[in-house]
Amino acid sequence: MNLILLEPGDFVEADNHTGTGKPAIAILRARRFQHIAEVHRAALGDTLKVGLLDGQIGAGKVIEHSDQHISLEVSLHRAPPPPLPLTLILALPRPKMLKRTVQHATALGVKKLYLINAYRVEKSYWQSPWLAEEKLREQCVLGLEQAVDTAMPEVLLRKRFKPFVEDELPDIAAGSRKLVAHPVTDTACPVDIPEQTTLAVGPEGGFIPYEVEKLQEAGFESVHLGPRILRVETALPVLLARLFPGR
Ligand code: SAH
Repeated sequence: MNLILLEPGDFVEADNHTGTGKPAIAILRARRFQHIAEVHRAALGDTLKVGLLDGQIGAGKVIEHSDQHISLEVSLHRAPPPPLPLTLILALPRPKMLKRTVQHATALGVKKLYLINAYRVEKSYWQSPWLAEEKLREQCVLGLEQAVDTAMPEVLLRKRFKPFVEDELPDIAAGSRKLVAHPVTDTACPVDIPEQTTLAVGPEGGFIPYEVEKLQEAGFESVHLGPRILRVETALPVLLARLFPGR
């Protein structure tokens, strides 16, 4: 936890947390309290890096410490890092990988993520309890805390490939550079592109030719990352580091 993510409900005076420069008091219990007590081992007077969900980043000074909670005097003064200019379309990974991938995508700066169906996505994956809104949100929070960011990504689920690609994707991707990561293609993934991008990444078994064709019809260009086939959780950071280095 490189950043302690605060929510409006953590503040004692709920009006006073809006980053006006005035300190406000936040009280933390449970997971964040435990982490601060056991990992940061914060003592009275110590300062921790904090951020307000969808708001600014700043400092939290420990002003009270019991065995159940910790009180922080919070002042917020800087913006979170800029988002990647990206909409990510990801074929739903199996549950264990889903958690990690959502966390990593969040840490890498993805702010809009569609989890979609594909032929090689097992139907049972859609039953995973990890797809519940609050479970996905937990993974996003972990990613934000890791990356020192506050802007909560939007995660959307689309259980039918064809209607998504035909009816929704044209609007989602309108005006953006459209790429589909696909190992068997001639074009190498571009490096350091400035424009807004929509990137599709396949399931563990890859997109089937029909799906690649549908994406191509929607204006997507297939790009590869070299001769090695990577796991989705590896392909994603490689793709993003390549498309948006240093961002
Ligand atoms: N078995 C599949 C590979 C799936 S890898 C096949 O042989 O096609 C899962 C996803 O990660 C792919 O659909 C693709 O989006 C991405 N990926 C993995 N390695 C890649 C590479 N070398 N180039 C481009 N995309 C890759």
